[in-house]
Amino acid sequence: MILELIDGKKISAEIKDELKAEVEELKKQGKEACLAVVLVGDDPASAVYVKNKKKACEYIGVKSLSYELPASTSETELLELIDRLNKDDSVNGILVQLPLPSQIDENKVIRAIAPEKDVDGFHPQNVGALLIGEKGYVSCTPAGVIQLLKRSGVSIEGKECVVIGRSNIVGKPMGVLLLRENGTVTIAHSRTKDLKDICKRADILVAAVGKPKMITEEYIKEGAVVIDVGIHRMDNGKLCGDVDFDRVKDHVSKITPVPGGVGPMTIAMLMNNVVEAVR
Ligand code: NAD
Repeated sequence: MILELIDGKKISAEIKDELKAEVEELKKQGKEACLAVVLVGDDPASAVYVKNKKKACEYIGVKSLSYELPASTSETELLELIDRLNKDDSVNGILVQLPLPSQIDENKVIRAIAPEKDVDGFHPQNVGALLIGEKGYVSCTPAGVIQLLKRSGVSIEGKECVVIGRSNIVGKPMGVLLLRENGTVTIAHSRTKDLKDICKRADILVAAVGKPKMITEEYIKEGAVVIDVGIHRMDNGKLCGDVDFDRVKDHVSKITPVPGGVGPMTIAMLMNNVVEAVR
């Protein structure tokens, strides 16, 4: 079988270039996009994510406002900032980088962001809209997976799709999006019995399980398309996914590498949501 790598770096660059052109057009119509990015505390991984999000804004021509708050910030202080940003007409999108320090209730924060500015797509109103097929912001990582599949010529309609993982930000919206594309969807999780057998049915297997290299050839149907959402740093400093790439590569038709697969798509889809806010 000829193995094809699904190149998330290339596809995300294409999407960002399309958005950049669209932002220019919108500017000619007097419409400007502005994303407010809020970071609380000094988690190094979060700082890198925020930096990359700001860089992407700059690339596509979107203004970004940065709010870097100390780890001691109270819930009330953060909610007050969100309230100000909700009321500020010059701000189209609000992103609060997760995780938040333990004194702040993440669910309260997610619900405080106005749904029409919730470019992460985490607000229950947007999640509900996705479920019933109405317009709303879609969570960026699963939206990125759909783009990876579509832009690499994988048709979803009628396919057996298995998603491993049922988190609110990846697994569940992933299942709903695949269903929306007319896939036949199974969502597997930590209590699933016979996981290998279920995964072996999949024409499209999405691993969002959070366990390094858990998915081996024993989970793969010959010729399947495999999307690896996991990101883990190994002891040798290199990154790996939830899929054991070397063990599955001779059994799949297409697969996303880690790094360079799903990772870069998340930011591209965030940018898409920011532009959507002004469309
Ligand atoms: P999570 O820990 O919230 O969810 C993991 C899910 O996997 C759970 O629903 C659980 O039921 C299931 N699970 C755990 N052990 C299992 C097992 N042994 N068998 C079957 N199912 C099992 O994680 P998450 O936030 O959904 O993220 C999943 C992975 O994706 C992580 O590695 C994370 O780092 C990565 N991630 C990547 C991006 C990106 O941009 N590429 C974005 C978000 C998350």
